Amino acid sequence: MQEFDRTYHHWSVAPGITAIETPGKSFGPGQVPGTGHVMAYLVEGNEKAVLWDSGYGNGNIKAFVESLTDLPVMALNSHNHLDHNGCNALFDEVWIGEHEDGLDQPVFPISERIPGGVDEAVAAGGDYAWKLLKDGDVIDLGGRYLTIIEVPGHTRGCLTALDSETKLLLSGDAVLKRVLVSIPLKEFRKSLERLDTYDFCGILPGHYDRIMDRGQVRRLIALIDRFDLRKCEAAEWHGAAKMMIFRSGNSFNDPEFAAIGFFDRNIDVITG
Ligand SMILES: [Zn+2]
Repeated sequence: MQEFDRTYHHWSVAPGITAIETPGKSFGPGQVPGTGHVMAYLVEGNEKAVLWDSGYGNGNIKAFVESLTDLPVMALNSHNHLDHNGCNALFDEVWIGEHEDGLDQPVFPISERIPGGVDEAVAAGGDYAWKLLKDGDVIDLGGRYLTIIEVPGHTRGCLTALDSETKLLLSGDAVLKRVLVSIPLKEFRKSLERLDTYDFCGILPGHYDRIMDRGQVRRLIALIDRFDLRKCEAAEWHGAAKMMIFRSGNSFNDPEFAAIGFFDRNIDVITG
């Protein structure tokens, strides 16, 4: 059997921002990927850097990031899901949105759920402390600022961050080509309308390997406005859970493609 490839691929996506494709890309059926590319980002100021998300925990992202920068690195999770928090045990503290679930204790990856299994260094890592961020907080990296904007939708407390230097928005899973929504769509719509009042020129998403245009926010709003349960399609999602999607466009790589996904069991929550 071929050994799992734990290589981190990276490229400069904008001045001072490195895109890091972490191991564990997966694709769903048809035109709609599963988690797709799992992206983390390193944002460097003059005095410190932020690592935006830590991947699945199937590699050592801390060692990788230390090979890219000499600056002290602040680890931050856009939200508390296993493809974004997996390497947290390599850090002493990790920053996350105050409204995320499951922050009563540190979270560690479970090998059976992780593509390729948990990396040795991660498995040997110790407890870490959660540190809480709230909407409007500004992280000073030295000559560069990240403004935290909470965008409930994918999760209750998921975060995005606006970079002062490039006017790019780090979106985590809050804005994607296809957003998996866990709260009522009308609340997600409110989040998107509010996000759309901010001044940003493009989006660095958690699951796509290129910059999305900011029009994706309005595309998602338009999709919510014409949401029709009868036109949702079933899509497989990692075995047991049944996912429904509502989309506009056929090909994921179509710039106009937008989709909302939700779990079958959540229909009442989404439409509530
Ligand atoms: Zn994700």
